[in-house]
Amino acid sequence: AWTGPSKEEVLRLRKAHLNPAIFHHFKKPVMIVDGKMQYLFDETGRRYLDAFAGIVTVSVGHCHPEVNKAVIEQTQRLQHTTTIYLNDQVAEYAKELTDKLPGDLKVAYFVNSGSEANDMAMMMARLYTGAHDIVTLRNAYHGLSEATMGLLGQHTWKYPVPQGFGVHHALNPNPYRGVFGNDGPAYARDMEDLIKAATPGRVAGFIHETIQGVGGAVPLADGYLPAAYKLIRDAGGVCIADEVQTGFGRTGSAYWGFQNQGVIPDIVTMAKGIGNGLPLGAVVTTPEIAAVLAQRLHFNTFGGNPVSMAAGRAVLRVIDQEQLQGNCAQAGGYLLDRLRQLQERHDIIGDVRGKGLMVGVELVKDRQTKEPAVQETATVFERCKDLGLLLGKGGLHGNAFRIKPPMCWTKDDVNFAVAVLDQALSEL
Ligand code: PMP
Repeated sequence: AWTGPSKEEVLRLRKAHLNPAIFHHFKKPVMIVDGKMQYLFDETGRRYLDAFAGIVTVSVGHCHPEVNKAVIEQTQRLQHTTTIYLNDQVAEYAKELTDKLPGDLKVAYFVNSGSEANDMAMMMARLYTGAHDIVTLRNAYHGLSEATMGLLGQHTWKYPVPQGFGVHHALNPNPYRGVFGNDGPAYARDMEDLIKAATPGRVAGFIHETIQGVGGAVPLADGYLPAAYKLIRDAGGVCIADEVQTGFGRTGSAYWGFQNQGVIPDIVTMAKGIGNGLPLGAVVTTPEIAAVLAQRLHFNTFGGNPVSMAAGRAVLRVIDQEQLQGNCAQAGGYLLDRLRQLQERHDIIGDVRGKGLMVGVELVKDRQTKEPAVQETATVFERCKDLGLLLGKGGLHGNAFRIKPPMCWTKDDVNFAVAVLDQALSEL
């Protein structure tokens, strides 16, 4: 039984001493004190099915025994020295991680978060090309450091500080709401215009998620990436895939999100699920791009620390051993089928989308006008929590559910989640 401080006390401490800009889900917030694989437990011992995985971070399962064992063993042996001494963990992990990537993507940089990884990727692109301009997408989320805030395509998180110098936001190739529907090459033609209009004609690069996560699990229109990559490369730029949410098999059909559109980026950034909850981020690039950064020394105190490395290595092993990519394809395919059936019975469901266990459900007041059903989304979200399901929520209008659970979800978990959603929607 829980012997720590009460929920009320924790809330009081949070209000008194924590960053006032952090937010919590639910009017009556949930306090989570235990986790086991796809389940979370509050201080009363009540179990919830986790559909959001600590914001797509707990990839292989909460407190997965093999990851825990690797972390505990490494913690007991050696926690920290930095890369000024040789250590096996960071070297072996760099090999194991880059083995998972196609083409010439063979050099790894380790950092501690997604924002840091994308900061680094932007700098690499600029140094390698000698150009400054970077193209990003409206509705994008790549972090909240000063540089990555400039990439943001959502006002919700932006501060009115100088940011985004040299950054250009292209039209979002959103198949559901975008002006060109699911016609990827049409959006790319607009990017061609943007490059000509807003840059010197030469760019440093283009950064994208393959399914926009914070933006509401929005996949990029079919055929968009091959066309966009060609334009960017013709303008001298490099292509950066942000795999912070879509990597490590989550989309089921591929290990990396970008593979779903048949492209190979020049730089790949990772965080979140890479460490199953431990602070870990990475940038992987080609030897040619990495060589340009070798003009100066580079250092990151916690980057490559043995404990995070041990976690990262265990995550890679577990994904393979438990065939979690295949499970994402199976459980995710079944989830999408069941949600589309639900859509036939609930007019409020405007769109069901995604791949594998990276799924979005958008609620609208009217299927023709697509007016966001903001209040209804909040009500259903709250009700699902009461019924034992912790969904994610997002999108620019806050009217999309994000279902991105630990990758070990089973068919039973899908059935439970869909039944809960069905009940909550029926009660509206
Ligand atoms: N990229 C993507 C796609 C993300 O979803 C996030 C976090 N939501 C980030 C980058 C930033 O990661 P972090 O919060 O670890 O800085």
